[in-house]
Amino acid sequence: MLFSNINGINKKKIVLLPHDHPDGDALGSSLALLFYLRKLQHNVDLISSTEYSKSFQWLPGIKDIIVFSEKNKFLIRKKIENSDYIFLIDFNNISRIKNLRNFLVSSRAKKVLIDHHPHPSYFDFMFSDPKVSATSILVFRFISNMNNLNKIDKEIATCLYVGLMTDTGFFRFPSITSETHFIAGKLIEKGIHVSNIYNLLQEKYNENRLKLLSKALNRLRVLKKYHTTYTSIDASDLNILSCKKEDTEGVIYYGLGIENIIFSVFFFEEKIKEPIKISFRSKGNFDVSLFARKHFKGGGHKNAAGGISEKSLSESIKYFLSIIPDYYSSLITSI
Ligand code: 5GP
Ligand code: MN
Repeated sequence: MLFSNINGINKKKIVLLPHDHPDGDALGSSLALLFYLRKLQHNVDLISSTEYSKSFQWLPGIKDIIVFSEKNKFLIRKKIENSDYIFLIDFNNISRIKNLRNFLVSSRAKKVLIDHHPHPSYFDFMFSDPKVSATSILVFRFISNMNNLNKIDKEIATCLYVGLMTDTGFFRFPSITSETHFIAGKLIEKGIHVSNIYNLLQEKYNENRLKLLSKALNRLRVLKKYHTTYTSIDASDLNILSCKKEDTEGVIYYGLGIENIIFSVFFFEEKIKEPIKISFRSKGNFDVSLFARKHFKGGGHKNAAGGISEKSLSESIKYFLSIIPDYYSSLITSI
């Protein structure tokens, strides 16, 4: 029904929603769908609940994204409430679009989930597969299942490739399958420029970002017995160095690179008195999505997850240190 409606002659009003602080996969998947559904003559809007990182400004179509603000919230509300279909892209729970969730709840549009996170909430149409390495793969399958692969042009292919590249850590992560590379190959056949994309995605550092990293590395603690490491950045670090959330990207992986470490945790205080954002990464069998879900109202994937804590930064770390011994046996058997 969805496919025949979308492939049919009647124009539909469609709203595409990636998750808060959209990453390369959320943006790439959403922009690819924006181009694709517009090619099918639908009336499509891509709305982001928060700002996106400046590093993605070069993406095709990015200027078409409507970013939520106090000024345009009535317009956005109207678009969401009056749409026929709403696509939820690269997230599985409406808590991940904090500025838009109420509009979504009051909209009578059919909701279509396209996502690869485990344990999704249920929506009208589900394209959910936690086994795939990126939501971009599900968008490719979506287009393929409608027999429309010929509609993938260089721009769509670029967007999907960005999703693949970023969510697989540049084709490194264990979630990669032959399908990942099969699709990458099909996208390359559309004429995309792989090394240009790679260069554009390479993060450009300014000096302060490196200073912020140095603070995090100075604060890094290794819990040898638990094969675990953790560190933090607080609001005063950000203020002193004029840095933003996006400047902390990648900090968590340094600890994970230490020999015999399989669990890395990063505590992030963006603003004083706001919840602490916590990121988790692991190697091998230690499932950080379960850990995030059980203790920090979060979730994610087996080896990459996140959550929040309402406690202060130091109390959050204390709490973390108090629960880590419970994981001793699963940490030592995962190495
Ligand atoms: P990051 O550490 O990069 O913020 O998030 C890593 C992964 O964890 C994301 O791709 C997402 O799947 C998941 N994640 C991060 N924060 C949250 C959260 O607050 N709730 C849930 N359910 N998942 C999260
Ligand atoms: Mn993703």
